[in-house]
Amino acid sequence: PVKWTALENSETTLSSISLSTFCNIEEFLTKKNPNYEWYNGRILNNKLIEIPREKLTISNKIGSGAFGEVYSGIMVQDFPTKKCRHVAVKSVLQGSSEKTRADFFLEALTLSKFSHKNIVEFLGVSLEKNSILLILEYMSGGDLKTYLKRLRSDVNNETDLKAVDMLNMCIDVANACTYLEQIQFVHRDIAARNCLLTSKQTDMLVKIADFGLARDIIGSNYYRKTGSAMLPVRWMSPESFSEGMFSSKSDVWSFGVLMWEIFSYAQTPYGTDNNTTVVTLILKGQRLQQPSACKPAIYDVMCSCWKTDPVERPSFQDLLSHLETLKQIHQSEIHKTPKIYVRQKKYNTY
Ligand code: ADP
Repeated sequence: PVKWTALENSETTLSSISLSTFCNIEEFLTKKNPNYEWYNGRILNNKLIEIPREKLTISNKIGSGAFGEVYSGIMVQDFPTKKCRHVAVKSVLQGSSEKTRADFFLEALTLSKFSHKNIVEFLGVSLEKNSILLILEYMSGGDLKTYLKRLRSDVNNETDLKAVDMLNMCIDVANACTYLEQIQFVHRDIAARNCLLTSKQTDMLVKIADFGLARDIIGSNYYRKTGSAMLPVRWMSPESFSEGMFSSKSDVWSFGVLMWEIFSYAQTPYGTDNNTTVVTLILKGQRLQQPSACKPAIYDVMCSCWKTDPVERPSFQDLLSHLETLKQIHQSEIHKTPKIYVRQKKYNTY
């Protein structure tokens, strides 16, 4: 078990944390966003649920993130019944910069506004001495990339996914993306590594979990990135890596790459080519090849996401209905096994 600083010494209270002291909030949210309340140019965070630290028991480390470490934990939900819930606790590294802490807090604020079955549920924040912990629903299946890779390394192919299972994964993510498209949020980092699974069974749900790069585009329909930052080039559309333009249609491009990851059991897009080569290839019109586990109709969907002109790419709403149709077709093919007539009695006709 990890040793955590006692809360009694805490100098931090939720109301004392102000985002605008860390960074320019407008870089992240437009003032037109009706999901947030503004006061004197500041965003109000008084609706952020605070989970008293004593209701949390933190145990083993389950992962490392961009900001810090992720732990497994138990949260007592209601005091009278003492109902417990398995949670994931995200921390920000001690001594990290104010910008990092602000980004971390912004991710909490963003997640707290979402409510969708395919977006990881945000339960609240807990205060640690001068720091904040993010409490999320626990996703026992781990991340999608690791899950797919493990299946690929299974030499006996006993755990091969069916096309319908893969389509279900795509549909889960498309569902979350349709929701984000409707509320005008660009995610900017749709990829298998950022999706988590509720379990390792085939009936699991896939949820988008990481919102570190998400931006609100209300009022402009796109977000223009200025300055340099580490960006996931292999998942990025040409307008994103060339002009820093991000929109729901650039998320559609990344979603196409995510579909490719699913059907190729998490191969690295563009293999060993370096990022500069990848950019050159994309600008020349080259695209990822059809994975062997994928039928042409599914590959066509990926290719529609990779149209050079964002306007020609489908919306997530279109993608979702297209994927649902493909799933139905695949399901009916499975059930189209030849009928076997059994002669019950010797002289019966059938
Ligand atoms: P990053 O911000 O670097 O993308 P995260 O901090 O979101 O990464 O997560 C790092 C790792 O911690 C994930 O790959 C996953 O293994 C684990 N993890 C994160 N959130 C959860 C969760 N809600 N449930 C279970 N495991 C999680």
